Amino acid sequence: MDYISTRNQKKIFSFKDVFLKSLAPDGGLFIPKRIPMYTSSEIENLRNFSYTELSEEIIYKFCDKEFNKNEINNLVNNSFKSFRIKNVVELKRLENLNLLELFHGPTLAFKDIAMQVIGNMYDIILNKNNLKVNIVVATSGDTGAAAINALKNKKNINIFVLHPENKISEVQRKFMTTVNSTNVFNIALASNFDDCQKFVKSMFEDKNFSNSINMSGVNSINWARIVVQIVYYFFSYFKISNKSEKINFSVPTGNFGDIYAGYIAKKMGLPINKLVIATNKNDILKRVVDTGFYKPLKVQHTISPSMDIQVASNFERLIFDINSCDSDKTLKLMNDLKRSGEFKLGKEELTKLRDSFLSDSLSEEETKSVISKVHKKHGMLIDPHTAVGIGVAEKISLKDNVVVLSTAHPSKFFDVVMKTTNIKPELPESLKDIMIKKENYDRLPKDLKEIKNYILKRI
Ligand SMILES: *Cc1c(COP(=O)(O)O)cnc(C)c1O
Repeated sequence: MDYISTRNQKKIFSFKDVFLKSLAPDGGLFIPKRIPMYTSSEIENLRNFSYTELSEEIIYKFCDKEFNKNEINNLVNNSFKSFRIKNVVELKRLENLNLLELFHGPTLAFKDIAMQVIGNMYDIILNKNNLKVNIVVATSGDTGAAAINALKNKKNINIFVLHPENKISEVQRKFMTTVNSTNVFNIALASNFDDCQKFVKSMFEDKNFSNSINMSGVNSINWARIVVQIVYYFFSYFKISNKSEKINFSVPTGNFGDIYAGYIAKKMGLPINKLVIATNKNDILKRVVDTGFYKPLKVQHTISPSMDIQVASNFERLIFDINSCDSDKTLKLMNDLKRSGEFKLGKEELTKLRDSFLSDSLSEEETKSVISKVHKKHGMLIDPHTAVGIGVAEKISLKDNVVVLSTAHPSKFFDVVMKTTNIKPELPESLKDIMIKKENYDRLPKDLKEIKNYILKRI
């Protein structure tokens, strides 16, 4: 499997380049030169695979030049040991919807699934090449925790996590700040997530700086994360659909990483009808689907903070795809965005987008009422991100099978859940001690220079 950039389809990169660099040198995103396809009978042959076997099969397809089968098998098995259930994910029925619980990993969010695998990929790649890296990552709450858990105590890695100060939940923060490991550094930035992300991006683009510290990234543009997330779309399909019956997914969306993995699953041949982009008030992607205009507005703080994002980084990958895989066209749109703060999709591209995607958004009040309704009707507690996925799926009401991705455990957002249901969602027993452990983090102003100095002093 070879890789190219969304902004230059001529230059070829290896999985190792893609994995370690995260962002292409031209500022574009890495994508496979050719997406592997399954025929429908090949897909049927995977039907009885366990979650781990399915992961081995799919992940290997995307990094067959970097790892051998044996390495992948070990890597996958080690990565899922820290999950609280055997099959990693779990499907539950909720009236006419299916809920895919993705939060049974060590930090209670779906991001654990990919991040645990990535942590082990770093181990192998860094050891093989005798390398050290410094990972810098922005988080809207869950990425940072998942990354820290996967990378703490690793010897060839330092990790710096920027989170927007006071804009993530207390449990989200504690998952990051109570980890006591000398290679972990938490920064609370006096700003919002989009600024955290913007600063990380500028550090990557500053070649002097990024090369001098051997900077690497694990945010949602890292291609390996997408790959690992493809697996649960296949797994869900086998669980709820009979041969070639199509299925739909409703995905609580921020940076467009999770749902884009579903799009790749569809391209690989999985019979997916529609992918529903479920957003909160930060509805840039709904506006794109409605009007073709991609125009980031000011970020609004909501009760589903992991989706408080206006610049959906992974969307560039889809732009490339719906523009007939033309990197010049993609580059032009990205330059429009930089120059005038927006771009517009052509009629044909918009039609292609709508072929696969639907979108709607949920207000804060609607989100709370979904949490309350699900509790009253089913005695089940759900987190606000999952509630957005359910609420939007209900608004859109598709005919075929619908799977809603349940992206976080309710206890990670216990304030909102408690206020709407009067019940306190309990953390899993094994994680309760984070609430009393000492926290470690540093506060920094919204100033790129200070962030760079902070990093340079600690490596
Ligand atoms: C990160 C996150 C999302 C959004 O996922 P993207 O890949 O950024 O679209 C949704 N829900 C939760 C709980 C998250 O942590």
